[in-house]
Amino acid sequence: CSSMSDQDNLSVLYGEDLSKFVVYGDLNCPFCFALHERFSAWNLLSRVEWRLIVHAPELSEAAFSLEDESLLANEVFAIHHRAPDVSVSLPKRRPGSSLATRLVMAISQYASDKAPELRLALYRALWQDGLDLSQPGVLESTLRKSGLEKFLDADSKAETNNGNPMERWEFWKLLGPEPKELVLWQNRWETDDAFDRRIPLIENTQTNALLLGLPSEEALYQFLLSRRTHFVNDDVCVFQPRPVVLVFGWMDHLWSLVQIARESCEILHYSDLETCQQMVVENEDIDFLFIEHEFVDDDILKSLTTLARSRGLSWVLASKTASEEVELRALNHGAEQYMSVDSSTTLHKARIDKLVSDRRRFVSMERDARVDGMTQIANRREFQFRLEQEWQRVLDRQHGSISLLLIDLDHFKPYNDHYGHLAGDACLKRAASVFKSSVKRSSDLVARYGGEEFAVLVLDVSQEQALEIAERLRGALLEDAIEHQASPVHDCVTASIGVARIDYGASGSVGDLIKLADDGLYAAKGNGRNQVQAPPG
Ligand code: GH3
Ligand code: MG
Ligand code: MG
Repeated sequence: CSSMSDQDNLSVLYGEDLSKFVVYGDLNCPFCFALHERFSAWNLLSRVEWRLIVHAPELSEAAFSLEDESLLANEVFAIHHRAPDVSVSLPKRRPGSSLATRLVMAISQYASDKAPELRLALYRALWQDGLDLSQPGVLESTLRKSGLEKFLDADSKAETNNGNPMERWEFWKLLGPEPKELVLWQNRWETDDAFDRRIPLIENTQTNALLLGLPSEEALYQFLLSRRTHFVNDDVCVFQPRPVVLVFGWMDHLWSLVQIARESCEILHYSDLETCQQMVVENEDIDFLFIEHEFVDDDILKSLTTLARSRGLSWVLASKTASEEVELRALNHGAEQYMSVDSSTTLHKARIDKLVSDRRRFVSMERDARVDGMTQIANRREFQFRLEQEWQRVLDRQHGSISLLLIDLDHFKPYNDHYGHLAGDACLKRAASVFKSSVKRSSDLVARYGGEEFAVLVLDVSQEQALEIAERLRGALLEDAIEHQASPVHDCVTASIGVARIDYGASGSVGDLIKLADDGLYAAKGNGRNQVQAPPG
């Protein structure tokens, strides 16, 4: 949108107080880079606070798979498409960003006015010159290029021990313990539900309005003028946590293996069977279970690995020395891999990298099986699964209830006919996002039931409460005001909602619940649409 760079438009922005805006971004995210370039082009870099966080802490030098490469390429292509005003090229790999982030923090503590400039230089070093930001040498040359070498030299001299000249790389150690702010920002970003662990994001700290993802220039402009309070775009980087390894065995036996694993994974260690089992059941973050061969008899091995498999974990049998007998034991029990501690470092690294990349593929395939590709909410299969699971839970606990909201967009066929199928798809995505952000509890499930129909599961609320929630969802869609000129009931997209509830002790099954909600939906449609109805009678 060429008008955005008009001086007239920008001077409106310059007159605003922009210090209320806080951006969360990572140096190794191209969408964040594109946003940063926009702020730079508009001369606003030092007017907003830019908080660097690390969205892919598991990135290690060795572990950059073909899949990572294609993901990165897709992101860069998305920038070409979505932000043609920004010049970006594809780097060889996505480097870890924690060292560069620490450097920006260190500089901003000494000379806060220099930080935006350095950030810009680092962003461009990676996304225009293809340099590897995880390398101290690259960081150092970027510092020098930005005219900050004085800081580098002065600082290393200042901290020199007993006046001995210090190796230059020692500087990086001087960055010291992780600054408190970094920890706070990272923590906030990882735990604030509204952030959804996406970057880039911009928060208006006065109104809590959020902009998620890379906006168009127009949307960014409107957001900074507080004319637009909510924006979501799918061109974002999402958090990829480090895989978690649970080790069961003697730590000192497995030490050299664990040392290598630690570079790309979080390590937990238990040598008590009960605690270990409890962790496998309760900690949903665990990816791998490493079991020491010498530590377990066949019974324990069997019970642990059965448990691990039922929780979807990959498990590995490790032994002190390589032996055919142990490898056979691993194979016979269905281990993902067999590892001997006396292997070379290179072999350890290669094995762990393969484990991690296989795991990532597995997790993403599992996710694809549960999530609707277009709207990115749960699909019908996941809905069915959760409905049955929750009902079983009600039966086990011998109390509780499930409410079901069946939502159908009104006159959606005319919407497609009038605006085209692509606009129809965009409308479905928007409706999904509205419904998803209008439910409150983490146990509430919003799913795409099929076509232009959505289903929402709500646990343990009264029928009155369920009707209220349905009203809230209907109202939220209306408030989002998606234009629909071809609708006979309203000039915006509306929804009809059927609400049904099944209580412990009721004679029916979950199948009846769907039938009842459908009856409610039918009544809502018949009664004029854009409304909530319980089943008649
Ligand atoms: P009613 O108010 O009675 O629900 O009217 P309606 O037009 O919404 O009902 P109908 O079931 O006849 O039409 C649903 C339409 O939704 C038809 C179909 O083309 C459209 N649709 C279903 N899935 C998709 C999709 O994934 N993308 C798009 N763009 N349209 C879809
Ligand atoms: Mg329908
Ligand atoms: Mg419909």
